[in-house]
Amino acid sequence: NKFEQLGLSESLLKAILDLGFENPSEVQEKAIPLLLEKDTDLVALAQTGTGKTAAFGFPVIQKIDADNRNTQALILSPTRELCLQITNELKNYSKYEKGINVVAVYGGASITEQARDIKRGAQIIVATPGRMQDMINRGLVNITQINYCILDEADEMLNMGFYDDIVNILSTTPDEKNTWLFSATMPAEVARIGKQFMTNPEEVTV
Ligand code: AMP
Repeated sequence: NKFEQLGLSESLLKAILDLGFENPSEVQEKAIPLLLEKDTDLVALAQTGTGKTAAFGFPVIQKIDADNRNTQALILSPTRELCLQITNELKNYSKYEKGINVVAVYGGASITEQARDIKRGAQIIVATPGRMQDMINRGLVNITQINYCILDEADEMLNMGFYDDIVNILSTTPDEKNTWLFSATMPAEVARIGKQFMTNPEEVTV
């Protein structure tokens, strides 16, 4: 089992066994050791279906401090469906971790309930940009201490017109955090976000 050679914790390896993943996909094999070994920004060119959720999900779960209730990682994704899908996957991946809470934040559902879930302690927030911006404006979420920001399907988010929201959201996060950008394509707007918010990113292409 090649997952054992990527530097993953025992608890994650156990969860992976339960999931029935036999071997890492290409993006996982390339990105996971990089992200675990050092604190780096990352640009990954990967389509849906390549296993990219686990490529960022395993490392982010391993790097979270479960004893700290602050929000430490923000994952932005284009749609409510994707947001729920990522949240569900992260919950499966972290089933053997104690005290890691993953909360989904998206439009068309009660903002009060989402705010309440965050208040209980959400180390990882998975959000659509519009609702996230709304929650920041209302003071319902604090992302001033995050260490990791993941932009999933960045090209899709920008196609949907979330450029301003993404820039505003990223501007409220610490400069020292690491940003991991995943995108199927690299149009100019995505490259612009990368240039603006990343420093010497590692690059992975699959
Ligand atoms: P994604 O590209 O993240 O949307 O993943 C596509 C699908 O592949 C999801 O249903 C994952 O649960 C599954 N998957 C991810 N990594 C692996 C793996 N290493 N082996 C088998 N299935 C996987």
